[in-house]
Amino acid sequence: MKISHLEVFVIGDGPEIDPDKGGVEPLACIRIHSDQGVVGLSEVFRVPPGVVQATVGNRQTHFGRLLIGQEITHPERLWQHMWDAFMHTNRRGWEIMILGALDVAIWDIYGQMLNEPVWKLLGGAQRGPFQSTVGSTVEVVPYCTLVSDVWGGEPMFSQQVSRAETLASLGYRAFKVEPMMSTPEDVVEMARRCRRAIGDKLTLMVDVGYLFNDVPTALRVCRQLEDQNIYFFETPFPVDTPEPYAKLAAKTSIPLAMGEHGVTRWEFIDMMDRGGVTVVQPYMTTCGGLTEAKRIVELAAPRGVLVCPGNWSTQILGAASVHLAAWSPITPFIEFAPAEVFESPLRRELQNAGFPVRNGAFALPERPGIGYQLPAEIVQAFRIR
Ligand SMILES: [Mg+2]
Repeated sequence: MKISHLEVFVIGDGPEIDPDKGGVEPLACIRIHSDQGVVGLSEVFRVPPGVVQATVGNRQTHFGRLLIGQEITHPERLWQHMWDAFMHTNRRGWEIMILGALDVAIWDIYGQMLNEPVWKLLGGAQRGPFQSTVGSTVEVVPYCTLVSDVWGGEPMFSQQVSRAETLASLGYRAFKVEPMMSTPEDVVEMARRCRRAIGDKLTLMVDVGYLFNDVPTALRVCRQLEDQNIYFFETPFPVDTPEPYAKLAAKTSIPLAMGEHGVTRWEFIDMMDRGGVTVVQPYMTTCGGLTEAKRIVELAAPRGVLVCPGNWSTQILGAASVHLAAWSPITPFIEFAPAEVFESPLRRELQNAGFPVRNGAFALPERPGIGYQLPAEIVQAFRIR
């Protein structure tokens, strides 16, 4: 089976739906077609769609030149084939994020070719019941990210808390509050209010979105949160500075998390070894694909670090996270942007078309490949170009 052509299309909620309220901004999706009619799908979060359209296409394009005509083999070979061609180009940023999306689509085809779901090809379900937070069944547990339309003070508290309550009543088990652009006092208050609302049994994370520039302030906040049973504290410091993370990690009992923008395993090694973080959060496309995410898991395990895939995009990308988590022995949670509480028609449609969440968890997928089946009507209704 060979790759015959590459297709890019762009979907989105349109300008009338505010991305800050959960709307899906113009999002490039990729389909890889094979000469035997098997098709692989992925999306390309956080890369301007025009960049994807300019580089993924016919044999004259950057990626078309590398992939069209290639035999479908184990995805790692095609990953390496692309990576080797980047020796003198970028090797980070958009180039790797697009490689990562192509890699996910290649896994999708490869799984269909072998008639197995991707998690089985990654190594099978390797979480023992003693490692799982969810009893004896291996299942994939999403944590809900709760942004608000406004930041700071009472409106932020009440909106995020009410979203947590709605989602808890639907059976979701884990929640991440996002007190962005807020005072240190508001960060503490946001977490305390959400903890009070969801009770002691459910899981709570806190993401402050690169809020602090100094270790003492972040440490004061962590100290005040240490009795709230916080599962992890995400991105207290700017994205390219692992050192303050290491200083904070040495002084607080709350695990620190980063990695949503990380590309390649090399950046994740830096976060873990220089930054001392004990939760890393690769996006399945951004980090360099499922192939690279698997390597990140294999580097994190001997370091005692958890891998909780990030995903503030749609359930096309979410489906790839489910496969990684189904295999990974060190992935108790994956990020999830629940359509139930955001004003985005496209997010809702894509979630409804994806793997169902039942009793707060995904069952391990059974369809071959990634198995996300994108309905043609959704593409038709939300296609931008
Ligand atoms: Mg974040």
